[in-house]
Amino acid sequence: MIENAMNKPEPSTANNIATDNGQNLPENTLVRPTLIALDRTELGAALVQIDVKDKQVRMRVNQLWNGLYARGLTDLSELHTISKDLRQKLIKKHTIERPHIVTEQISNDGTRKWLLRFKSDIPGKPGPEAEMVYIPEETRGTLCISSQVGCTLNCRFCHTGTMPLVRNLTADEIVGQVMLARDRLGDWPLIEADDKSGLPDSRRMITRLVFMGMGEPLYNFNHVKKASGILSDDAGINLSRRRITLSTAGVVPQMHQAGAEIACMLAVSLHATNDKLRDKLVPINRKYPLKELMQACRDYPGLSNARRITFEYVMLDGINDSIQDAKALVQLLKGIPAKINLIPFNPWPNSPCQCSDWAQIERFADIINDAGYASPIRRPRGRDIMAACGQLKSESERISNRERKKLLED
Ligand code: SAH
Repeated sequence: MIENAMNKPEPSTANNIATDNGQNLPENTLVRPTLIALDRTELGAALVQIDVKDKQVRMRVNQLWNGLYARGLTDLSELHTISKDLRQKLIKKHTIERPHIVTEQISNDGTRKWLLRFKSDIPGKPGPEAEMVYIPEETRGTLCISSQVGCTLNCRFCHTGTMPLVRNLTADEIVGQVMLARDRLGDWPLIEADDKSGLPDSRRMITRLVFMGMGEPLYNFNHVKKASGILSDDAGINLSRRRITLSTAGVVPQMHQAGAEIACMLAVSLHATNDKLRDKLVPINRKYPLKELMQACRDYPGLSNARRITFEYVMLDGINDSIQDAKALVQLLKGIPAKINLIPFNPWPNSPCQCSDWAQIERFADIINDAGYASPIRRPRGRDIMAACGQLKSESERISNRERKKLLED
């Protein structure tokens, strides 16, 4: 399936590369602020600024919302539901630009990865870059987005962890990633404002959203919260909060608040069952050790058998993959409504660990199965384009400008 009749733009040919030489800078949004990720009140205020009458504000906000988030307009001049005059004023003052695509790569298995450039903090200089991944599956598709450029966590086995934090992404940059993916995949439900037929659920490309790209979403709480509110709004992008998963390495103080205020599904990057090992693999454990983390999981608002926490566990050869580790894992999660997601370690250049062998992963999974957990092993996707879990790192960090220039010339 994953066929979409709507004029799907042709992506660049398989295995990529390079659509941009760095000249094409996003416009300076300090001059024209974006309308993306403003909530309805803020949109209303923006409209009042361009002389929309108070009693018309609500209607205009709804028209804008429909244009931006249900139809996915990429250009305000296409917003024909409002008068030309008003359109002109909006265009003069605001932008609805998405993040800029630097490269688009397509894996042999259909996984797509985009390197995105975000707005610059210094006019005239290119903005920071981060990656986003789309993973098509039989009946659904998962979009994996970033919440930060770089990361502060330094997990031993994670490629992103070798990159310093550049900055948090803002709510509009988070929502903008999803809008851009929908643009590229032809995944907007409505063509016209009053189109009732829409794109049926069975044909949707992006059915799940995971904050599992670069960064620690709970270290960027406010922007992630605001973005999730917009993304789940049912008059717009309409991804239910149960289809949004936030993955954390265990920022314990923010976990309860995330459950209460963002109300999305939670994934926890566990990877070890004792503090000694977890201190090494996931250094944030030194600050918030397992006992506190497990308590925060038990206290996660909305937790039930229908809404389980996903525990991610990367399979590292000879480090955390013994039969004893599997038993300890079962023991540790006792009483918590949980799913366990075993992730075969995805290698990256000079990575200090190796993936467990397949037979060992299966033995490990058997023990977990026997304890009553359906224990899906996460099938590695997009490894050939370094798009699999933990492999993301800004291209700019990996490819020097000279190399990139050469790619463009080839
Ligand atoms: N900072 C958040 C979001 C990242 S999610 C978090 O830690 O949960 C990315 C997931 O992939 C995490 O579970 C992470 O621990 C895991 N991961 C990182 N590097 C990996 C690698 N090389 N192979 C497999 N999984 C990896």
